[in-house]
Amino acid sequence: PQLGFRGRRALVTGAGKGIGRAVAVALSKAGARVTALSRTAADLESLARECPGIEPLCLDLADWDATEAAVGAAGPFELLVNNAAVAVLQPFLEVTREALERSFDVNLQAVLHVSQIVARQMIAQGVAGAIVNVSSQASQRALQDHAVYCSTKSALDMLSKVMAMELGPHKIRVNTVNPTVVMTDMGRINWSDPQKSAAMINRIPLGKFAEVEYFTLALTFSKEAGLTREKQIKKTSCVETRRS
Ligand code: NDP
Repeated sequence: PQLGFRGRRALVTGAGKGIGRAVAVALSKAGARVTALSRTAADLESLARECPGIEPLCLDLADWDATEAAVGAAGPFELLVNNAAVAVLQPFLEVTREALERSFDVNLQAVLHVSQIVARQMIAQGVAGAIVNVSSQASQRALQDHAVYCSTKSALDMLSKVMAMELGPHKIRVNTVNPTVVMTDMGRINWSDPQKSAAMINRIPLGKFAEVEYFTLALTFSKEAGLTREKQIKKTSCVETRRS
């Protein structure tokens, strides 16, 4: 379907690779003016070559002050996709302080902070905006070696609900997307071992993990699902998972 994003200003975080990159390209192709935020400059350069018109913003979201300055100066935006995250897998007994802090800095704190900056500008401009937070099925299921990642995503789900409640009166919609495993760098690194992935794949009716292309579909879902105020929080799953 034709998505109606023509001329709208969108910020996509973690847009250098994987899902964020696909979302940035899809939004740009749908007519949005996209700012692509990511950490590795080379990824943003190749994205700008692939999709001229996309505005790169090179930034480490774990840096609170740098984020405040750079995102503030890049706005205002009408659409925000909080997609950047890290997945550091460690057995619970071996979780390090460094992994814990980095994961919460990027996966949770940066979402709150970027959303604050963007939402304040939306409100100042009187814009009825939309925020999509990319969470994970890992927010709702215990997964081996995912103590930290699962916790960040579970916290993100609840943060999103409160954001939806508090930003709704300002006509800003907040939705989460909670995908199953997607074959990005993150997905491949963590789920390529067939012994590990078999149990997960067995629960997926299509019998395979998702691909980044499915995210154009997720964009459509969240746009349509969020139209009514009563349905501010609408969880969509790119590939439905089923408990066996
Ligand atoms: P990738 O690791 O493939 O890409 C993540 C992108 O985010 C990279 O461009 C990365 O840049 C960027 N990023 C990470 N940390 C920072 C930071 N501190 N500052 C700025 N940019 C940063 O991940 P995916 O595309 O697989 O995942 C995207 C989202 O989807 C994440 O929120 C993830 O949790 C979620 N998700 C993924 C699933 C999967 O199986 N792949 C399943 C369910 C949810 P760089 O490489 O330079 O650090």
